[in-house]
Amino acid sequence: MSRVYNFSAGPAAIPDAVLERVRSDIPDWNGTGMSVMEVSHRSPEFVAVADKAAQDLRDLLDIPDDYSILFPQGGATLQFAMVPLNLAAEGEVVDYVQTGSWSKKAIAEASRYCEVNIVADSADRNFTCIPAETQWQRSREAAYLHYCANETIAGVEFPFIPDAGDVPLVSDMSSTILSQPLDVAKFGVIYAGAQKNIGPAGITLVIVRKDLLGRARPETPSLLDYAVYDKSGSMSNTPPCFAWYVAGLVFEHLKAEGGLEKMAERNRRKAAKLYAAIDASGFYSNPVKEDCRSRMNVPFVLQDASLDAAFLAQAEEAGLANLKGHRSVGGMRASIYNAMPEAGIDALIEFMREFERTCG
Ligand SMILES: *Cc1c(COP(=O)(O)O)cnc(C)c1O
Repeated sequence: MSRVYNFSAGPAAIPDAVLERVRSDIPDWNGTGMSVMEVSHRSPEFVAVADKAAQDLRDLLDIPDDYSILFPQGGATLQFAMVPLNLAAEGEVVDYVQTGSWSKKAIAEASRYCEVNIVADSADRNFTCIPAETQWQRSREAAYLHYCANETIAGVEFPFIPDAGDVPLVSDMSSTILSQPLDVAKFGVIYAGAQKNIGPAGITLVIVRKDLLGRARPETPSLLDYAVYDKSGSMSNTPPCFAWYVAGLVFEHLKAEGGLEKMAERNRRKAAKLYAAIDASGFYSNPVKEDCRSRMNVPFVLQDASLDAAFLAQAEEAGLANLKGHRSVGGMRASIYNAMPEAGIDALIEFMREFERTCG
């Protein structure tokens, strides 16, 4: 098996051990004589997988009992609509922090259903910082406060959890969930698309405080109603069984690896090394304010952008894949989620030094 170091922002790398397990499971899963893609979601075998995935996730994130774990489809993008449909009545005001491309999209979608108040906006700083909480212009009676914990494109991460007071705090954690321990009790809703740090695309994670269930607007399609997922164990229609099963294997793998404290420690080390290498050179740079640099997505530009194509081609040859930055930012981006081993960071740093030496 020949595997590259995959720095893709998403769909992103999945741990080798999980892929090996999937491969060996495929023809005859769990003694059924079928693959997991072919069994009924209501079979005892699959229900056991679903229950174990939820329990392992509960253990990993230490999710309190008054929170429900839901697995809808539609990705984080569908949550941009499901959040307002489930938490805000028509015409109600909702508060959003605008810190990058993803929160901007969440705001655009919420604006179709609610009155959106943007409490703070870092667009004029090119989304390279998180506005200080003391400057936020919160509305007096918001149905909830929404923020994106890690902006995957500009590589900006909240170094704190906002204090929402009595208002439910809602967070898009697509690109940071499971990268470190989290105080779930501070949130009303946490959501994440799977294909960054959880598993394959096609399944979405929603963690919702139970008192927020059952408030969806009357016209909400039932498959967009959190309460329907809660009541049916996310099986009111056929769920994405394969993605669910792989996500479960990832949760199991993270537990076996020592849990989220271990992940946090490793992720901090990985990011620190890479930023240090960027900062130490005059050849590469990262524009994000130091205290809110993402531990998961590290964008950087070459001082001489005419070398971009050569950098990417040679990186690819060296087994370092998908380093091209998002088109809105340019340059490079190394996404270094849980599944990126430290050896991958070392290989990237060594490649960057060598490229600077020969082309700089
Ligand atoms: C990738 C991403 C999304 C979009 O996720 P989909 O699952 O493709 O809908 C939204 N928010 C953040 C922070 C992301 O990284």
